[in-house]
Amino acid sequence: MGISPPPVRLTLGVLTLCVSACGEQPSDARAPDLILLNAQVATMNAADSIAGAVAVSGNRITDVGTTEAIRLLAGPHTEVIDAGGNTVTPGFIDTHNHFAWGALGDRSPLNIEYPAVTSIDDVKEQVRLAVDNLDAGKWVIGSRWDAGKLLEQRDLTAADLDDVSPDNPVWLLHTSAHYGVANTRALELAGIDAGTPDPDGGVIGRDDAGNPSGILADQAMALVAGITPPVSVEDFVRGVTEQVGLLNAEGITTIKDPEIDQRHWDAYKTINENGDLSVRVFVLWRVPDTMTEARELLQHIKPILNPGGDAVDLISGGVKIYIDGSGTARTAWMYDDWNENFTEVDEGNTGLTYLETDLLLAQIRLFHEAGVHIGTHAIGDRAIDFTLDSYARVLADKPTPGLRHSIIHSNLPTVHAMDLMVKLQRDYDAAYPEVQPAFLWWIGDAYAGNFGSERSPQVLPLRTFQERGIKWAGSSDFDVSPYAPRYALWAASARETMLGTYGENPWGTDESISVHETLRAYTINAARQVFLEQKVGSIEEGKLADIVLWDRDLYSIPVAELKDVKPVLTLLNGEVVYRASN
Ligand SMILES: [Zn+2]
Repeated sequence: MGISPPPVRLTLGVLTLCVSACGEQPSDARAPDLILLNAQVATMNAADSIAGAVAVSGNRITDVGTTEAIRLLAGPHTEVIDAGGNTVTPGFIDTHNHFAWGALGDRSPLNIEYPAVTSIDDVKEQVRLAVDNLDAGKWVIGSRWDAGKLLEQRDLTAADLDDVSPDNPVWLLHTSAHYGVANTRALELAGIDAGTPDPDGGVIGRDDAGNPSGILADQAMALVAGITPPVSVEDFVRGVTEQVGLLNAEGITTIKDPEIDQRHWDAYKTINENGDLSVRVFVLWRVPDTMTEARELLQHIKPILNPGGDAVDLISGGVKIYIDGSGTARTAWMYDDWNENFTEVDEGNTGLTYLETDLLLAQIRLFHEAGVHIGTHAIGDRAIDFTLDSYARVLADKPTPGLRHSIIHSNLPTVHAMDLMVKLQRDYDAAYPEVQPAFLWWIGDAYAGNFGSERSPQVLPLRTFQERGIKWAGSSDFDVSPYAPRYALWAASARETMLGTYGENPWGTDESISVHETLRAYTINAARQVFLEQKVGSIEEGKLADIVLWDRDLYSIPVAELKDVKPVLTLLNGEVVYRASN
């Protein structure tokens, strides 16, 4: 592989040297602040070694070695933690987490996320309660419903919502964030009726008579979402500040927030200045639809783009482009028709592209030629091929190694796509899939039903990635699926859906991988996708001390138990950002 490996420090050797050469130093001054002993330290270093203990001083990892050796370093003020044989990992890096938006969802008065709701009647009841507390005409906004987890196994309709909210406009975003449902009042306010054509890259759902059903997918969502009450910088500041500690409680120390605009950036800056940002944040700016706007964005962000620079807490890192829709709305761009209910065919539906393909390629070219890291959303096999062919083309025209362009989701890559991943990773340090293993579980029933019986076993081919040496990074896509990485550790191995609607294992287990492989995807591989692999992502001497002690040995527990593991301690920069209460 042409990728330059991260710097390797032979920490065991250094430790031995230090113990002998530094022995006469006053032990106080040099003693670590904290040592973790009797651990399975998954270092994620180049040798992929497991150590027994780690020492932290200030914001750095100062030594990694055996329990016996590290114990000798302790001074009177060193906090000594016996891990009891449990696993210690680098802090988790979630390479796709819409946290600014998702934190607002957690603050919504309306809880329509499974298992708080299990039927359409439950959703209606939540909307009714919300309407009771609102003045006439005020909006009801909610998110995270999923037809695949509702008793009726169908999407909500405007008529469902009209029953409980005839006068207040309602907009409920599906958990995929690629479609939603509006009631009749909201459709009226948006000016949507039977005569309204589908916008480019979007679908207005219609009933058998051709009237709008309330469902709006992809670029059609903006018709209603664009007239909902605006969300302010202060809203994002409040939401993130209140929720960010929950990420630490699941072992997350870095996120890549992949779709920001100026409000999110201003909010993250404020939270960071307030000292309340207890995760590192690397952001991608959403590229607007026209070339003129895309050029304006480039000019606007150019002065503050700094991936791989000195900043380690808040990084303006690159841009995000959408190629296609989603697997839940069957709008991702496919070669063959989507399925329905696992074995039926959604005749004539091969999904959509967000923009004309010429325009998408022009946008990729614009940012690539400006030297900007690009994350491209591509779910369907055809969208993924298009993304990789585009990357290959712009890289051939302007070879620029090290931009690490990614394929966000990369759900159903073809052999051609994987060939290009291998080649572009090797030749240009680009074309890395950023993958969400928990999709298989959290939205897995709807997903498997849509991909169908033949394609489902090829969705998220993580075993093939491993075997072909394709580096990929782990992520949640919160709030599409929950951010806790324990779900991904489990799902990448178990490949089970939540409800088993189409049998116990519609995905099959040929593409299952080990917990260690997923750990690497969420740590050192993920660190590369936020350009921080020299500083975090592994437990090596000299790196920033982003470390998690887990409550179990992740390597020896049954796979099913991975879903329940919890951090005992999470360190960011050597500071405790989470400690379990007992
Ligand atoms: Zn996303």
